[in-house]
Amino acid sequence: MNQARVSGSTPAQQVPMQKTLFIKTYGCQMNVYDSARMADLMAPLGYVPAASADDADLVILNTCHIREKAAEKVFSELGAIRRLKRQRERQGGRMLVAVAGCVAQAEGEEIRRRAPFVDLVFGPQAYHRLPEMVARALDSAGDGVFDTSFPAKPKFNYLPESMAAPGVSAFLTVQEGCDKFCTFCVVPYTRGAEYSRPASDVIAEARRLVDAGAREITLLGQNVNAYHGAAPDGSTGGGEWGLGELIRALAGLPELGRIRYTTSHPRDVDDGLIAAHRDVSQLMPFLHLPVQSGSDRVLAAMNRRHTADEYKRIVERLRKARPDLALSSDFIIGYPGESDEDFRATLDLVSEIGFAQAFSFKYSPRPGTPAADADDQVPEPVKAERLAALQALLQQQQRAFNKNCVGRVLPVLFEKPGRHPGQLVGRSPYLQSVHADAAPGRIGEIVPVIIHAVEPNSLAGAIVVTDTKEGRAA
Ligand code: SAM
Ligand code: SF4
Repeated sequence: MNQARVSGSTPAQQVPMQKTLFIKTYGCQMNVYDSARMADLMAPLGYVPAASADDADLVILNTCHIREKAAEKVFSELGAIRRLKRQRERQGGRMLVAVAGCVAQAEGEEIRRRAPFVDLVFGPQAYHRLPEMVARALDSAGDGVFDTSFPAKPKFNYLPESMAAPGVSAFLTVQEGCDKFCTFCVVPYTRGAEYSRPASDVIAEARRLVDAGAREITLLGQNVNAYHGAAPDGSTGGGEWGLGELIRALAGLPELGRIRYTTSHPRDVDDGLIAAHRDVSQLMPFLHLPVQSGSDRVLAAMNRRHTADEYKRIVERLRKARPDLALSSDFIIGYPGESDEDFRATLDLVSEIGFAQAFSFKYSPRPGTPAADADDQVPEPVKAERLAALQALLQQQQRAFNKNCVGRVLPVLFEKPGRHPGQLVGRSPYLQSVHADAAPGRIGEIVPVIIHAVEPNSLAGAIVVTDTKEGRAA
């Protein structure tokens, strides 16, 4: 769960009537990106960030529907917000409450039934109309504004250029939606069909982010390596670019030190992407490549369209192209019909590949997806036991990977002050959080850091002092 970064909105003195906006973001990085764009849309109307929902004129919950727990959190949060809204009304004021994102898309009617005080309900493909929806809600006597349509033209055509300061590490959505229809997943229903932004739009947005101070860009998409955006006019070959070509073009932006992308599907790892890992030094040697299961039987039932062995071959090719590549993955435990043997195949795959980090979840039946109706659901205690065993193995691998970094010099992109005075925190190429003593002026620099110790949630190191600018003492 993230609080949306809405800093950098239009300064209060430039707008006639200042109002306040609070966005609470649940779920994935794509929601973080969407929340920042909603703030961009509202800034010209005078909406500046509020520190909390208590003070806000407009409260937006940007929601996630991927697992049941994520969706239920929204309804419990709405209970608290209802009290704030009523309190504001008693004081003669008005607070607009909006539910955006995938829960709004999937459960819009349920929100209207369970939380009729919500003023706006809109899906992830409709938020470009936010200013208009807010105006309608303010004009209405509380009838509610409801928009879960999928527009004929993608919303990106209507979004304003971002005015918010992106920070050192920025997200950039290049692809949205999904046509894969894995049997457990709500994304094709909540985000809609796969769409790739034209490469020239992505490059222009990346240039703006870099000009505003970003040194790392993470390209986002529900299935980001399915990217096939229109190639820029006049580019050789014409037609469409895959993600590998897009990454090569972005690597040409001076000052962009690092490129990452997430989340990928194994089926869409193509030769162009593997070659980009080989050739593009700015592309970080860390890849989140969800496998979900190590059992071919389960993978087929999930409609993942690859076997465990195919996944291993893809990893082999990637590692050949970029030998220092570290991997992360997603696992679903207790998919309907998963047997002990299927689960052992998952453990075997983990042991064979070796992950630097990973996310693992109990299967959560999602209404409207094919797997939710299966009659061979795995009992909760079995899921819990298997998840614990998998997580123990994954944690062991993560600890070993981190321990292996001790004594190594890693380039760290410093992002912000650390917890202790005189300290900065940044990220290694492998997304590990690293802290070291450094002057605040080094935020935004990529600096060689020798790793001294592994701490529970980060690595501790010291800047390597060399004669070069990169290695100067802090
Ligand atoms: N497109 C990516 C892929 O193909 O693997 C995954 C994107 S999905 C939004 C993020 C992760 O949520 C998935 O990799 C999966 O592990 C998890 N997930 C999706 N549906 C789930 C469900 N019904 N129960 C548990 N986890 C789920
Ligand atoms: Fe969901 Fe990813 Fe499968 Fe698409 S490819 S349906 S986003 S898990």
